[in-house]
Amino acid sequence: MTMRFDILTIFPNFFSGPLDFGILSRAIATGTVQVVTHDLRNFTHDRHRTVDDRPFGGGEGMVLKPKPIFDCIESLDAANPSDTIEFSSEQHVNQIDEGEIECNKSIDGIASKSTRDLTRQSVILLSAQGKPFTQATARHLAALDRVVLICGRYEGVDERVADLLADEELSIGDYVLSGGELAAAVVLDATVRLLPGVLGHADSSRYESFGVPDIQPNDPTDGKTPDGVPRSTHGAGGILDYPQYTRPADFRGTPIPEVLAAGDHSAIRRWRRQAALAKTLRNRPDLLARAPLTDEDREFLASLGFFAARANS
Ligand code: SAM
Repeated sequence: MTMRFDILTIFPNFFSGPLDFGILSRAIATGTVQVVTHDLRNFTHDRHRTVDDRPFGGGEGMVLKPKPIFDCIESLDAANPSDTIEFSSEQHVNQIDEGEIECNKSIDGIASKSTRDLTRQSVILLSAQGKPFTQATARHLAALDRVVLICGRYEGVDERVADLLADEELSIGDYVLSGGELAAAVVLDATVRLLPGVLGHADSSRYESFGVPDIQPNDPTDGKTPDGVPRSTHGAGGILDYPQYTRPADFRGTPIPEVLAAGDHSAIRRWRRQAALAKTLRNRPDLLARAPLTDEDREFLASLGFFAARANS
């Protein structure tokens, strides 16, 4: 089944770059995902194709009007919306479809907010004021059939879009972008690579930074294999992935950690787990507070001063 993304934007051609390379481009070419952009100016009715207006109450800048956005989303309830660009990696060009695009008939239209089945569809407003977009959000979205991404511009979007149309507002970080298109591309990329079959090996998306937990709280094995080696060597349960090295073994006088070349797989597992913990402590100590940790992890982190630093903070 094809997952479908609809992107509402005033810059539909913005997406030709991000969608034309690598994993995203392949996922489109194989039909795993369908991406359709909708130009909000095609849902205006004045000569100047106006999508914005001044803010009530005064203040700087302009605000995206609600009507073109509502009209566009309501058109997605029909099987064949017009005024779209469908991305086709087979041709490696953006195909501007003047009329109807061929929709995947198994994908339902976007229902009104009150009747929308949130286990299958989601309408998302990209916004600096949104909830943080995380790997867990990407996993949630990857389980849906259809996702609509609304890209704001200017000073933002009339709040009635968030209230009456969108299921949630998502932010890709604590900074302000000039438009939602980059954020939509980030959400799209992070989600599509999690779809079954998109990455060469299914474990690639499970065992990486922010990966799913594979150590349960109160695990009687303390997260170890029967011979006492850490089972998890990766970013299980939200920590960062371990550092990677490749040839040459000595680069500009800096050798790789010896353990990685010695062929002792138990020692490599233990080193990777500890390197992942150390890196998380260095760059994202906030993640350690919620990560499932084994007793051995805790001892290792204590040796690096983690718990003492927390107690003092
Ligand atoms: N006045 C808004 C504020 O202070 O929150 C910022 C508006 S921003 C200049 C224009 C558009 O960029 C937003 O409507 C949103 O769609 C997008 N945007 C900006 N920062 C974002 C972020 N961190 N995550 C997601 N979208 C963002």
